[in-house]
Order: sequence, then structure tokens, then C-alpha cells
Amino acid sequence: MIQTITVKTRGREAFYDITSRVQEAVAQSGVEEGICLVFCPHTTAAVTLNENWDRTVQDDLCLGLGSLAPERRDYQHLEGNSPAHLKSSLLGASQVVPVSEGRVVLGKWQGLYLVEFDGPRERRVVVKVVEG
Ligand code: ZN
Repeated sequence: MIQTITVKTRGREAFYDITSRVQEAVAQSGVEEGICLVFCPHTTAAVTLNENWDRTVQDDLCLGLGSLAPERRDYQHLEGNSPAHLKSSLLGASQVVPVSEGRVVLGKWQGLYLVEFDGPRERRVVVKVVEG
């Protein structure tokens, strides 16, 4: 069974904490022990794990990614959102986390995030829980 989480993003670039919604998907799967794949089927968004306490970490990640994938005039992609595509590839489209006792296993300061790079849009995150 695949479950889908929908996120309506507001700004052009922002982090959305999906940890509790992924946890709900794991609970609904009924799997007690296994792994959970969290997958973002978009080319200008990403799924990442990072700090869930200090929001300035998210701001700094956006700042750092902006340095790695700056706005430039010589990109060839005509849609004009090449920095968003670059950032999506830098963070990646998926995360795999362990599941134990029916819950995702994360570090104390870790959260799962959908990261929007070209919003506002309606984004989907696919969750697949595998027993094992
Ligand atoms: Zn594009």
C-alpha cells in the first residue's frame, strides 16, 4: 500500500515539517518493524531530514543552497527555474528511515521535511512502509 501526503506550499522556497503526517502513514500501514520510504515525485522540490528545533537552520540551509545554486543568466532551461531543479537534486527526492514498534525512528532533533523550491504549488509526498 502506498500512501500520499499532500502539501499546499505558500512561498517560493520553504520547509514543511511532514514528520507527524509520515508517522500517521506508518501507523495506518500497521507495520511494526521495517523501513519507511518517503518520496517526493517532483523536480523542483525535495525531501530531507534536518533539525526540527531551531527554525533558523532552515533559513541557513536555504541561504547555503542559494550559494550552491545561484540565479544566473546563462542557464539554458527556458522555464527559468533551474536553481530550483539544482536544489532539488542536491537534497534528493527521497529519504528512508527505520520503523520500530510502529513508529519512525528519528534522532531527537531530526524532522522530515518537504522542501519547496519553486512554489507556491500543491505537492505530493509518497510514503511506502515495508515490513522486515
Ligand atoms: Zn523547470
